[in-house]
This record gives sequence, structure tokens and C-alpha cells, in this order.
Amino acid sequence: MLNQSDIDALRQLEVPVQGHFIDGEAQASLTGGRLEVISPIDGKPFARLAEGTPADMERAIASARASFEAGHWSRMAPAARKKVLMKLGDLIEERALEIAVLGVRDNGTEINMAIKAEALSAAATFRYYGETIDKIYGQVAPTAENVLGLVHHAPVGVVGAIVPWNFPLMIGSWKIAPALAAGNSIVLKPAESASLSLLKVAELAVEAGVPPGVFNVVTGKGSVVGETLALSMDVDIMVFTGSGTTGRRLLEYSARSNLKRCYLELGGKSPNIVFNDAPDLAEAAKVSAAGIFRNSGQVCVAGSRLLVQEDIAEDFITEMARHAEAFRVGDPLDLASQIGAVHSLVELEANLEFAARAETEGAELRSGGKRILQETGGFYMQPTIMAGVKPQDNLFQNEVFGPVLAVTTFKDEEEAIRLANATTYGLSAGVWTANLSRAHRMVAGIRAGIVHVNTYGGSDLTVPLGGVKQSGNGHDKSLHALEKYSDLKSAWIQL
Ligand code: NAD
Repeated sequence: MLNQSDIDALRQLEVPVQGHFIDGEAQASLTGGRLEVISPIDGKPFARLAEGTPADMERAIASARASFEAGHWSRMAPAARKKVLMKLGDLIEERALEIAVLGVRDNGTEINMAIKAEALSAAATFRYYGETIDKIYGQVAPTAENVLGLVHHAPVGVVGAIVPWNFPLMIGSWKIAPALAAGNSIVLKPAESASLSLLKVAELAVEAGVPPGVFNVVTGKGSVVGETLALSMDVDIMVFTGSGTTGRRLLEYSARSNLKRCYLELGGKSPNIVFNDAPDLAEAAKVSAAGIFRNSGQVCVAGSRLLVQEDIAEDFITEMARHAEAFRVGDPLDLASQIGAVHSLVELEANLEFAARAETEGAELRSGGKRILQETGGFYMQPTIMAGVKPQDNLFQNEVFGPVLAVTTFKDEEEAIRLANATTYGLSAGVWTANLSRAHRMVAGIRAGIVHVNTYGGSDLTVPLGGVKQSGNGHDKSLHALEKYSDLKSAWIQL
């Protein structure tokens, strides 16, 4: 049970200067450089991080390579590795509130969500992949009798991981846990504005028994240490979550270096489609509002395009606006807040600009549209609804990654599918209908990694998450995620 006084005590704690985590311990940057971290809660600096240089990153990659070659982890007995990851899950759970509060001070996610979706979800992820370690078998190929064909899953070696500032711990764990389960060593580069919770997990990993050098974290700028990691000849694969712009760069870095595979989880502009035969329109409006506005819309799968059937559009938009206005936006460390802060001033200004430009393109502001709580110094924005958005408009085509919903109407199923697929993205979608056949046709017709039916945004670890089109090419979560972290290695044995 979350308790406000525990949260308040944790939010006061001074954060010591953070080093990189290399070779099992905190290490300062070789140049001594530091980055200041601003909290979106009040706009004030509250932490300092080591500002990584290419040489710091090279050190971490060398440490990961050395640990992999030494086999301290990669050749440890599966049951022993499993025990370590299960313990890491337990340690994260024990420290869940402390870790969640640290993360919220970094990125402004509402604490109710952060505790579940960040800390507890990370604990569950380490346990889930820990459980797989001694349960996944290789294969014997159906060869002729005089030959034995064995197919092994061999770890890829050194995994480079780069993650964004939204849900850093959840998304980071989706990569770290299966990579470790498969026997790899890792170098992680978190977002410069959301590194603290991941640094804490790296520390706990050593406490749980992950050998030094197996899991390293280098903090700093993407254009410096991220680039060094992705250009390295000694990194075997890259796993990435973030923007399409950076995703493209990673593919270039791969082409310019060792052709490492790059698995990219990128942005979205996900359609949430409401038909007039939805089983419960009131429920649809409530869930759809949460599906775009929670975490200030900073959710990759947010239902950021509402496609609503013409004859119910007016009532539905009014109901969505009612929910949007009822959300309590405020201090993310206050348990009463339902929506926290926008991650940075730059993002806040970009969100406001998206809404303003939509108006100049002919959309109608139906709710919100303003910065609020400016007196706190923090970065807060009203949930915003823009109606009458046309397919060619900026707000229809481009990801805001903030609390701005684009509403477009459609006549029939055919037009709904056409509009749903009319962007370069393909991450998530929602369909609200009581017609089972229509639901199946929509699931088949929408190009997206996940289609929710009569709900929006639900999922768990057992279901893969990944995009199609320019939303990416890899999947996190589920047993499928493990496939990225091992190579198939065959043995052909003449008997
Ligand atoms: P971003 O691409 O700006 O940054 C992501 C990470 O890449 C950060 O750690 C950053 O430091 C690093 N980076 C930046 N430039 C780099 C470079 N040149 N070389 C190497 N690394 C570099 O993205 P962001 O703003 O942090 O995150 C928001 C984006 O992430 C949104 O587009 C969102 O939709 C997407 N996202 C996708 C998913 C998914 O599962 N598909 C989940 C969450 C977020």
C-alpha cells in the first residue's frame, strides 16, 4: 500500500553525484565531466551525472567483452544464473518505492503509475526471464541416421542497449533481463534525463550476483556515448527504444561499423477507432481518455488519433472532454495526482506548438491546450483535444509524445481502416465494436504491432510489444524477445 509520508520522505533525499557503472562499480568520467539533471516536478536541478566520453564508453565495452570471454556469466550453469536473476527481481521489489521515487524525480511520471509500470514491472521482468533460463532447450535436427545435427542457442556476446526517458526502468528491463538470461554481457546507455533508476538496478544486479563487467551503464549524451556504443566494432547487437530519428542513425552506424543487427522500438501515432456499435460508449470514452492522457501522453502506444464514427462523434468528443477536464494534473509525487509532469520544458513547448499549429491548419480546440501550474516551476500541461483534424495535417501524421489528441471522423469500416493505416507508423491501435466479425476484420486490416479490442493499452509480459512500418522492427516482452539475444549455432556430427 502506497503511503504519502513514505513518498515525501524519499523525495527529500539528496542524490549523490552519480558515476557510470563499469566493471561492477561506480566510476567517474575520465575527464571528470558532469551533467545536471533537472526535475520536471519543479524545474530545479536535483542530481548530477557523470558525463560520459567516448573513452568511458570504450572502457565499458572492453569490460563487457572481457567478462563475456571469461565466461563468468555466459558459461555459468543455467540454474545458477536463474537464481541470480530471481534474486535481482526480489531486490528491486524490496526497494521498489525508493527506485520509483527516484525515477519520478527524473522524468515526472505519476507515482501510482511509476510504482507499477516501472519498479514492480522491472522486478517481474527479471523473474520472468530468470525463469526461462533452465527451461529452454536446443534441438536435434531430423537428419539421416549417420549424422547428428544439433541446434544450440548461443549468446550473441556484447549487447549494446539504448533507452529513452519514458519508462526507462520498464523498457530497460525488457532489454537487460532477456539479454542476461541468454548469457550475454551488456552496455546500457540510458537517456541523460532518466538514468538514476537504471544506475540503481545496476548496483543491485551486482548485489544479486551478476559478475562485475556483465552489466555496465554509461551515462551521458546520445550523440557522444550513444554514438560510440553503436559504432563500436566490439558490440554484437544493438537494442534500442526511442525516436525514429535516432533509430535511423543506429542503422547508419551499423552500416559504417560491423553490420551489427539493430532492433528498433520507435514511435507511434496510434489510431483508436470507435464505431457506433461499441458495447459501451461511456466506458470507451473513459478508457480512451486514459489511453492518451496518462503519463501526459508520453507513452509510445498512446492512442493519439481518435477515429470516431460520424454519427456519434459529437457526443463522444464531449464525453472525452469531460474526462480530460476531470483528470487531476499535478505533482507526480502526490498520490492524488492522476497525471504528472511533462518531461522537460522543451517537450512542453513542442506539445503546445503542436496544438497551436493544428488550430492554424483548421482543427478546433475542444479541451485544454494550455500550460498549467507554472508557479511551481514544473512542466505541466492540460490534456488537450483537437477535433476536425484532417489526414494531411501535421497533428494527424506526426507523433507529439505529449497530451494532445487528434480527432478525425469516419463514415464506415472501409474508411476507418484507410485512415488507421494512413501514417508511416504502425505501433498500436484500438477498436471499439460489439460486432465480432468486424473486430476480426479490423485486427486483420490494421497495420500495427498490437490491436486492442474494446479496451485500450492493456498488456502484460506474456504478450510481445513491437511495431511495424516505421514504428520499428523488434519485439520486447514474451519468450519471443529472447530470440534477439542468441544466435542459432549448429553442430553437424558425423557418426
Ligand atoms: P531519442 O531517440 O531522442 O532518445 C532515445 C535514446 O537515444 C536516449 O538515450 C538518447 O540519449 C539516445 N540517443 C540520442 N541520439 C543518439 C545518437 N546519435 N546515437 C546514439 N544514441 C542516441 O528518444 P526520446 O525522446 O528519449 O524518446 C521518445 C521516443 O521514444 C518517442 O518517439 C517514443 O514513441 C519512443 N518510444 C518507443 C517505444 C516502443 O516500445 N516502441 C517505447 C517508448 C518510447
